[in-house]
Amino acid sequence: MMDLIHELWFLRRDLVSDGYDQALYRLAQEVPMAIHEYPSGEQCWTWRIPEKWSVQEAYLETLDGKRIIDVADHPLHVVSYSLPFEGIVSREELSSHLHVHPTLPDAIPFVFKYYQRDWGLCASQRLKESLSDERYRVVIRTRFEPGTLKVGEVIVPGQSERMVMLAAHLCHPAMVNDDLTGVVVGVDVMRRLLQEAQPYYTYRLLILPETIGSVAYLSHHEALIPDMVGGLFLEMLGNDSAHALQFSFQAESAFDRCMQAAFRGLDPQGYTGAYRSIVPNDERQFNAPGVRVPMLSLSRVERPSYPPRPYREYHSSLDTPAIVTQERLESSRDLVLGLLNAWEKNLYVVNHFKGEVFLSGYGIWIDYRENPEGSRRLFEIMERCDGEHRVADIAAELGIPFSAVWEVIAKFLEKGLVSLSRVPNPTSPRRSLE
Ligand SMILES: [Zn+2]
Repeated sequence: MMDLIHELWFLRRDLVSDGYDQALYRLAQEVPMAIHEYPSGEQCWTWRIPEKWSVQEAYLETLDGKRIIDVADHPLHVVSYSLPFEGIVSREELSSHLHVHPTLPDAIPFVFKYYQRDWGLCASQRLKESLSDERYRVVIRTRFEPGTLKVGEVIVPGQSERMVMLAAHLCHPAMVNDDLTGVVVGVDVMRRLLQEAQPYYTYRLLILPETIGSVAYLSHHEALIPDMVGGLFLEMLGNDSAHALQFSFQAESAFDRCMQAAFRGLDPQGYTGAYRSIVPNDERQFNAPGVRVPMLSLSRVERPSYPPRPYREYHSSLDTPAIVTQERLESSRDLVLGLLNAWEKNLYVVNHFKGEVFLSGYGIWIDYRENPEGSRRLFEIMERCDGEHRVADIAAELGIPFSAVWEVIAKFLEKGLVSLSRVPNPTSPRRSLE
């Protein structure tokens, strides 16, 4: 994953651009990938596919020709999708077009103006403060032309057409944690799933430009939407923080409940938050009206702090390979695989026993030192094996990790005391409360 990051991170990966395409084609060598193309100008629901954008040159000079800022030094020196501009401007006029990072004085900020047409350059606060001439020369040679927006799709076919969507965006030029880490983790997850036995659910990973890529894909695959049972957006998985799981718009969905229960056991330091409360991303398009796929988001966004920020180097030239590690990417990959594995196992537990099981007679004993929760909860779990609870429902009711419940269920399965069912199969007569 770090090798891919080193190879791709510095590319000028704007929404529709040669750098984005180059990165996507390179990723397509890693896993079998279909690449969907949507031409500039095409209407996708209420959106329109933007033009392809490229930069020939962009710089700021003193009037005697001393170059102060040059996009050749760093892709972030020009606003993504900046209009072309050439002329002599006053320092005051320049100021409103020269963007700086709000909190990092030495960093170049990532600024994009996809739909509010304007020209702009970006520099560090220190550089901007050092400008003392009255007038400067600006040259921004950018080109807008028809192109195609590309969405990469990797499919792990399951036994069922019902599917889980994974998504990550690739449109952040010369940055790493946001957004390449989500992409490389997603690709590695798919590679692993393709090597394993065929899953029950179908898994699809989308690699796309943020927002517009999701809208383009969904609007062209409306027939798939009813089969999307859940999803997970991946981003910011390399920085030094615990994992953060943000629930979908429908936090009570079976998929949310399962992810929450599984997450609890997979990263005990991790934290969870409501929809939109941690970091908003492409999952918004999946959760939106008319789509309503419960897509959660997994990141390593810092716990709520003041000033609120996902992580220190966010949207800046300091978001480099130096702030991410292979170890953290691997732990995020394993966490995603653990979440998906839990979803595969999240079936109704149907009891073949009546009354409480004679546990010692069956030799069912859980080492309380290895799994104190499982041991303490053994009876509470057994009571809920009634064909009406899925594994995650039991975990949610008891407030314990999915893995702790599964450990007990696995022993019951081994002894033939229960079986698993995809549909509810209530075994216990209900009594009214009269
Ligand atoms: Zn971003």
